[in-house]
Amino acid sequence: MNQLFKIFIIVLLTFSMVTSCVSNHQEAKVVEGNPNVILLIGDGMGLSQVSAAYYYGKNEPNFNRFKEIGLINTSSVKHKITDSGAAATALACGEKTYNGVIGLDKDSTEIPNLVEELSLIGFSTGVISTSSITHATPAGFYSHVWNRGMQYEIAEQLVNSELDFFAGGGTKWFMDREDGKLLIPELEKNNFLINSDITASTLDPNYKYAYLLAKDGMPSMLDDRGAFLPDYTKLALDYFTKRGGSFFLMVEGSQIDWAAHDNNSDYMIAEVLDFDKTVGVVMDYAELKGNTLVIVLADHETGGFALGTNDGDYSTIKPVFATYGHSTTLVPVFAYGPGAENFKGVYDNNDIFHKILSLTGN
Ligand code: MG
Ligand code: ZN
Repeated sequence: MNQLFKIFIIVLLTFSMVTSCVSNHQEAKVVEGNPNVILLIGDGMGLSQVSAAYYYGKNEPNFNRFKEIGLINTSSVKHKITDSGAAATALACGEKTYNGVIGLDKDSTEIPNLVEELSLIGFSTGVISTSSITHATPAGFYSHVWNRGMQYEIAEQLVNSELDFFAGGGTKWFMDREDGKLLIPELEKNNFLINSDITASTLDPNYKYAYLLAKDGMPSMLDDRGAFLPDYTKLALDYFTKRGGSFFLMVEGSQIDWAAHDNNSDYMIAEVLDFDKTVGVVMDYAELKGNTLVIVLADHETGGFALGTNDGDYSTIKPVFATYGHSTTLVPVFAYGPGAENFKGVYDNNDIFHKILSLTGN
């Protein structure tokens, strides 16, 4: 009788758990604990680059899935027009600094970045980029050097960083180095599996994963990069899901900037469309799982790009550039998920760091 009673209680408890899960389905997105944070950076992606997705894409742009929109001023501490090093430092570390600097404030003091801050409170962390993983934008999220060109030092700092997952190009900074240092074995010593051929079902959350898939930058979309950015973003999300707990992931579409420096609109539009597709992968995840803050922004605009008129013909668009460099136009911020409303308004690029930390228990 006693035994029967126990079974009855267990069945009752199980039933009530199942039904409460079902009945709370609508509220299931409000989960206790810190939200995941996914930061997507389109390097050089001003409003006209975003707009290009509306006129050149086959599908409705994923930018359409956001309701909380803001604008950021990207100037660095001394220059009205930022470079990607100072911009990455502002976003990742919360301080405006000098152009070319990574992870140091204007007094050359090392300042903690989001990966360091969030891993301290238990977040898993990752970065993905279509440049070398040691390039200025991703480097801002794990390294501290006075010049962005110090990519050998940046690679060494990556090996000893808190990152659990990274994907991009840049083998030349890890092997065949001028100083003869072999960083791949160092990564393996730190529990990384390198270029491991895994799927969502075969990945092992007890390892960290490193993907170095090109000598320097990844190929361009016009050079058949294919679905690297959306696919590895999906893989990272599968990995973090399997690890459990909260995570921070930075994903960069690096070559929007490179194409704009070249004033090559076909190249730039292909990179914007690839970035938009990646935004779609992230939004699918965030909408399905909940408790995930998605922020899409640019570090600055490049090219002074405009969707202009073709000699007064308002029925066709002529992509035009005003410069081969960066511009200082305000750039858009799109946010979705818990705390997304905090990203509305017009503010400075370094506020992004503080807004993220204020939403993640800091
Ligand atoms: Mg970049
Ligand atoms: Zn640039």
